[in-house]
Amino acid sequence: KKFRPWEVKRVRTTCPHCAVGCQYDLLVKENRIVGVDAAPGSPTNEGLLCVKGRFGSYQFVHSGDRLRHPLIKENGAFRRASWDEALDLVASRMKGIQEQYGRDSVGGFSCSRATNEDNYAFQKLMRAGLGTNNVDNCARVCHSASVHGLATTLGSGAMTNPMADITEDVDVILLVGSNPTEAHPVMGARIRRAVRRGTKLIVVDPRKIDLTEGCALHLQIKPGTNVAFANGMLNVILSEGLEDRDFIQNRTEGFEALREIVAEYTPERVGEICHIDPDGLRAAARMYAAARKAPIIYCLGVTEHSTGTEGVMALSNLAMAVGKLGRSGCGVNPLRGQNNVQGACDMGALPYQYPGYQKVTDPAVREKFEKAWGLPLSPNDGLTSTEMLALSARGERIHGLFIFGEDPMVSDPDTAHVRRALENLDFLVVDELFMTETAQLADVVLPGVSYAEKEGTFTNTERRQMRVRKAVSLEGEMRQDYDIFAEVETRLGHPCRYESAAAIYDEIASLTPSFGGLSHARLDAGEDLAWPCPAKDHPGTPILHVGKFARGLGWFYPARYRPSAELPDGDYPLMMVTGRMLYHYNTRAMTGRAEGICQVVNESYIEISSRDAAALGVAHGDRVKVSSRRGELETTARVGDKVGDGEVFMTFHFPDGNVNKVTNAVTDDIAHIPEYKVCAVRVSKLG
Ligand code: SF4
Repeated sequence: KKFRPWEVKRVRTTCPHCAVGCQYDLLVKENRIVGVDAAPGSPTNEGLLCVKGRFGSYQFVHSGDRLRHPLIKENGAFRRASWDEALDLVASRMKGIQEQYGRDSVGGFSCSRATNEDNYAFQKLMRAGLGTNNVDNCARVCHSASVHGLATTLGSGAMTNPMADITEDVDVILLVGSNPTEAHPVMGARIRRAVRRGTKLIVVDPRKIDLTEGCALHLQIKPGTNVAFANGMLNVILSEGLEDRDFIQNRTEGFEALREIVAEYTPERVGEICHIDPDGLRAAARMYAAARKAPIIYCLGVTEHSTGTEGVMALSNLAMAVGKLGRSGCGVNPLRGQNNVQGACDMGALPYQYPGYQKVTDPAVREKFEKAWGLPLSPNDGLTSTEMLALSARGERIHGLFIFGEDPMVSDPDTAHVRRALENLDFLVVDELFMTETAQLADVVLPGVSYAEKEGTFTNTERRQMRVRKAVSLEGEMRQDYDIFAEVETRLGHPCRYESAAAIYDEIASLTPSFGGLSHARLDAGEDLAWPCPAKDHPGTPILHVGKFARGLGWFYPARYRPSAELPDGDYPLMMVTGRMLYHYNTRAMTGRAEGICQVVNESYIEISSRDAAALGVAHGDRVKVSSRRGELETTARVGDKVGDGEVFMTFHFPDGNVNKVTNAVTDDIAHIPEYKVCAVRVSKLG
């Protein structure tokens, strides 16, 4: 560390990577961040940080390749522009497109890395400024299945219980499609500590993950078979009389329809579908049902499927059948991905809902927002981001797009499809920190600011409100993102100006019942608040559905197993599974600029089983080509036993071998979430 303790100012804020929301101090010397220190006693991280938070979360702020002034593309090249020129152009082009093609010919992708306040301002720009509900955020491609699934069955599309529940007091943890030691490392540490102290862990995952070591049971299910697995668990529970009849009777509806379907999923049949031992399934069902406290924790291994929403609902069926909801140490707990992906959804960066999941089609709700914002609003549901891209790729309906802090060219499935969609647009504006692959395709690029240069809040995976505080001001013409949106909105004919992030948060509270009691002042006074927090004297709600579900009665959704959209065949004989790794975060916009992290790992790889590698003549470390019906890439083989035979695994972190060149953009038909987790590929040795 190149500083002495008394030389630095400490600014308490929130890690910008994953949705655990670790609290730490940015250490600032002479307007430069020189390090971070974990906040002692923080309820989210208890003084811990992972390698990404400690060594890869601030260097990008001062990176020399930050965008520092607006850019306009002319004759295929960017030139520097003034703010007035760039903002006028954005407003006039978007308006012109709407005049030519109609109000809903434009859309916006908001940013799940940005604050609640920025997300609120962005969706307001789309709705009040442009008059469309075509606004979405990248939850669409990670946890939209959780938002839709849990809202449908329980009434609230969010994690039901706090992370602090995960102690040795929990008897069993059912971990499904989640690799927390890599993707949510501080949560992974909590689980590991509980297991060391006696909690039994059931891992349901196609790969051997770190937590498989020391677990009570690993069900290495075939990717894409979660619904069959959950129905199989229920089959055992019901046939052995392990269900909670009182809970089912008093707190739920739809049980009989589910019972009929579940009867089809005998352990033997599920064993065949999921490629697991039927006795392993029986053991897992008995262990989970008999436990006094047993949370289900899940992640993208459940959601990112063409049956993702049904996978989520099948897990909530399971928890309801044994009465493990509405109390400490239980629940259905999606680990949200990005730092503020929960908040981006909460703030209404969604095509069907205003802030707080209030429906855009509800006349009373719409009237409230029309009154507050002072103009009529669209009564129609908007389009999801995956729908907007699919339409634009076909040259239909969507002609203008405003992308805030997202890089779909790297993060979305089937890169060729995304390129086609973005290149087909008449006008693309991107608000970014860096010249990303998506920004390179834009007509106008606007420089925003990072988490270390702004005030605001993130909502972590537990619905907890976390303060984000400004630590540095950088040289350049960058602007607060909410100011950018207000300026565009004003130029579109709807005057808008925000005094501060705190004032925006107050506006959110005034329009959003579940945020009604929240304010920066309460958070700054040290209050620890998770929504719903409807009143100024309300203590927040760490556990949802206590005594009553948010929708009244919990609903058993009758889900049947359906295979993934694209399965291996003679041409593409291996099943590709995608995921994350410990050292890097998503598109690497942040961790890719941390030298120490890049020294550890900075290139792509493919995991392949020893048997498959031998059959292909591939050795550990060989360069290989990976191809699918959509594209191909080159990468390096890691041969071992982490993946099962017939399956391979890659991440999308690295530009040299981004797995999204081969993934499938097919989506589930409820939440429109893409099937990142299963596609068919061929692997061949290079050279
Ligand atoms: Fe940041 Fe997540 Fe690591 Fe915590 S666990 S330090 S929030 S990346």
